[in-house]
Amino acid sequence: MEQRASEGLDGGAQASVDGGGSGMEALRVLELYSGIGGMHQALRESGVPAQVVAAIDVNTVANEVYKYNFPHTQLLARTIEGITLEEFDRLSFNMVLMSPPCQPFTRIGLQGDVNDPRTKSFLYFLDILPRLKNLPKYILLENVKGFEVSSTRDLLIQTIENCGFQYQEFLLSPTSLGIPNSRLRYFLIAKLQSEPLPFQAAGQILMEFPQIESKQCPKPATDAEKKAEEKQKEPNTCFEGIRQTSPKGPVLFKLETIEEINRKRQQDSDLSVEMLEGFLEDGLDPTHYFIPPESLLRYALLLDIVTPTCRRSTCFTKGYGRYVEGTGSVLQTSEDVQIEEIYKSLDNLSQEEKITKLLMLKLRYFTPKEIANLLGFPPSFGFPEKIAVRQRYRLLGNSLNVLVVARLIKILYE
Ligand code: SAH
Repeated sequence: MEQRASEGLDGGAQASVDGGGSGMEALRVLELYSGIGGMHQALRESGVPAQVVAAIDVNTVANEVYKYNFPHTQLLARTIEGITLEEFDRLSFNMVLMSPPCQPFTRIGLQGDVNDPRTKSFLYFLDILPRLKNLPKYILLENVKGFEVSSTRDLLIQTIENCGFQYQEFLLSPTSLGIPNSRLRYFLIAKLQSEPLPFQAAGQILMEFPQIESKQCPKPATDAEKKAEEKQKEPNTCFEGIRQTSPKGPVLFKLETIEEINRKRQQDSDLSVEMLEGFLEDGLDPTHYFIPPESLLRYALLLDIVTPTCRRSTCFTKGYGRYVEGTGSVLQTSEDVQIEEIYKSLDNLSQEEKITKLLMLKLRYFTPKEIANLLGFPPSFGFPEKIAVRQRYRLLGNSLNVLVVARLIKILYE
C-alpha cells in the first residue's frame, strides 16, 4: 500500500479537547482503523475528557468522511503495519480505540482468522504494544460476533495479560440501550492496573452492560407510546405459502416460521425499546429510496419489512441497498395497508398484478442518514456531497453503534 510521505506523525498537543471542560488532564487517544470515525464520535459522546491524537485508516473514501466530520484531527492515510514503533511512541497515547477488519472472523468471511492477510496489521500492533515506551492505560476493541472464538482473540488476551492489563469481554447489541436496531458485536475493554475491574467476570463474556452509578436508563415509554403500541399488535409479516416464478428462473423465497413471527411480535411490544419513527428523516423525498419493482418481485419473500411504529430493525451491513437478503430491514411507508393482506392476495396473479400489489406497500430503503441515526451518530454528522449513496451504506455498514461504545468508554474510564 502506498504511503503518503507528506503525512508525518505529530505527537504534539492539539488545541481542541473533545468532551473537555473539567480540570482533568485530557486522555490522548489513538484511533486505529478509524473509518468514518465511529470511535471518535463515541469518545465525544462519552463525555470523557480526551483528544484523538491520531486516527489511522487506509480507505480514502472513509478518510474523506472522517475529515469532513473531524477536520481538526490528525488523520493518517497509512497502513498500521507501516507505522514504526518510534512513530507510535512519539504519539504518546494513553488510550487505544480500535475496530480491526472483521471479515476474517465472520461466517461469510471464511474465517481466515490469524492466517487471513487482513489480520496482519492487527498482529503487527499486538507485537508493537508490549514494546511501547509507555503502555496505554486503556484499550477498547470492537469486532464481530465470532471474534471471541478466534485464535486472534487468544493472542490479544495473551498479549494484554502479559502487559498487566485487566479486561472484560462483552457481546452487546444496541437494543440493550433501547435503540430499535440489532447489531450484536464483540467488545473488549482493558485497563492497565493490578486489581480486577469492579464488574470483571473471569472467563465470561457479558451480554449486558454492567451497572454503573451514572447509568442512564432508556427513557420509559410515555402513555401515548403505550397506547400506540396497544394498537400495533398485528404481526407485520406473513410469508407463508407464497411461491412465485420470475422471468429469470425460480424465485428465492423464505417461509417465515411461527417462531420468527412471534419473536418479531415480541420485539415490537418491548416498551423499553423506542419506535423506529423517531429515527426517520423528516420531510424526506423518498423517490430514490423505493425498492424497484424487479427487486420487489424477486425478493419479496426475503425482505425484512418494518413500519415506523416497529421497535426493531435488523443489522445494516455494507451491502445494504445493493443486496437484499440479510443486509438490513426495509421500511413500509404506506399507512392503512396490511402487509399480510397484500401477501395473501398474490397467489395466482400475473407478474404485473403482483408488482401492482407489492407497490401498494411503498417499501423503501432506510436512508444513510436514518442508519446513522440508528447507529447513534449525532444530527451534526454528515457526508461530503460527492460520496455516493452506496458508498455511504458501505461505510456505515462497517461502522459501529456510537452509543454502545460511548457507554463502554465511560464504564472503562470510571
Ligand atoms: N470503526 C470504523 C470502521 C472500522 S472497519 C468506523 O466507525 O467507521 C475497518 C477499517 O480498517 C476500514 O475502514 C479499513 O479501511 C481499515 N483498515 C483495514 N486494514 C487496514 C490497515 N492495514 N491499516 C489501516 N487501516 C486498515
